[in-house]
This record gives sequence, C-alpha cells and structure tokens, in this order.
Amino acid sequence: MLYDFHTHTFLSDGVLSPIELIRRCIVNGYSALGISDHVSASTLERVIREVSLDAELAARYWNFRVLVGVELTHVPAASIAELAERAKELGADHVVVHGESPVEPVEPGTNLAAACCPAVDILAHPGLLTTDEAAAAAETGVLIEVTSKDGHSLGNGRVVRVCREAGARMIVNSDSHLPGHILTPEFARRVALAAGLTEAELPEVLEQNPLTLLRRCSKP
Ligand SMILES: [Zn+2]
Ligand SMILES: [Zn+2]
Repeated sequence: MLYDFHTHTFLSDGVLSPIELIRRCIVNGYSALGISDHVSASTLERVIREVSLDAELAARYWNFRVLVGVELTHVPAASIAELAERAKELGADHVVVHGESPVEPVEPGTNLAAACCPAVDILAHPGLLTTDEAAAAAETGVLIEVTSKDGHSLGNGRVVRVCREAGARMIVNSDSHLPGHILTPEFARRVALAAGLTEAELPEVLEQNPLTLLRRCSKP
C-alpha cells in the first residue's frame, strides 16, 4: 500500500505531464495518487479540467485511481474557504492547502483557515503548527501532512508532536515536483519514522488515513 495525495505537474511548477507522473507513480508501486497543482483564483478552473482528462485516461486504460485536486497556494488566508468550496464545485476530488512552511512567507492565519474549513482535505507542510490549529483539524477531519519535501520537512518533528497531542490525523505526502521526489513504500516509511512517528502509528498514517480520504473523495 502506498498513497500520496500531494504532487505537482507542469500545469504548475512540476516537470512532468499529469499522465507521465501517473505512469511513474504506478511503476513505483502507488495504490492511488492525488495530483494537486498550485492554484489560486486565476488557474483553479483550468487545472481541474485539464488534470481530469488524464485521470480519466488512467482509470479507463490502467484501472488506476487518481484524485484530481488542487493546492491553494499563497492565497489570502481569508479566501481559503471560498476557494476550497469553488474547487469542489468545479469537480475537484480533494483540496490541499499550502500551509505555513518554515521556508516560505505564507500569510499567517493560513494554517488555521485551512484546519477550520470542511472543504479542505489536507493541510500541507504546516511548519510551526499550533495546538489550536491541530485541534481545529481534529474537529473538521482535515488531515495534516508529514512531508518528504526538503525545506518544508523542517517542521515534521513539531507537526507529529502537536498532532499527536491534539488528536489530529496525519498523512505522508511527497509534494513531488521531479521524478526523483516520487515515493516508494520504503521511503514513505522512512520519512514517517524520521519525523518521529512510531512503528505502531504507521498503519494509521500510511494506510488508514489515506483510505479514509479516498472514501471521502469517492463520487456517487
Ligand atoms: Zn505546498
Ligand atoms: Zn505542493
């Protein structure tokens, strides 16, 4: 079992087309994949429409599940609920929010706005995550990301500690922009353990939480 719901293609700043990313993830042993290119109000609609076409292709010819998502990135914190709802109306399966990474000037308040929003599925790389933010995510069911991406991963140790205390659920994602970022089952395990998760917590973080997300995103 290998899941990853936060990846990028050349529709934002990744290097692969959606279908090549899908192909390489299948080869690496993925059970399902989420594509979540950086968007704001300007590109939301186009990205969802274009990724959907390759997701349909992968489902039809390879019987492989691709969640068509977006990553709301550097948008005003107060606009997150509105944009997340708009993404879902436009057919997005899942919404990732680009959290307050320790290495980028993300607007303060972004973590909390994402954690409080039921239309958001994943708060990515939240950096200096607070107990209040994690408690809000525990309430709404927003998953908090443990990331394998360099730079963003500086926050992983704190994220695990705060989520554990607040009862927030976690998920491991790659935030892939390059072929070399794509996970393998062994690398996902190593990222989780290095972040401070215990062996006993791995089944929940690497399998149960991704499966919960997949069920939530299943369209009738
Ligand atoms: Zn991000
Ligand atoms: Zn990203």
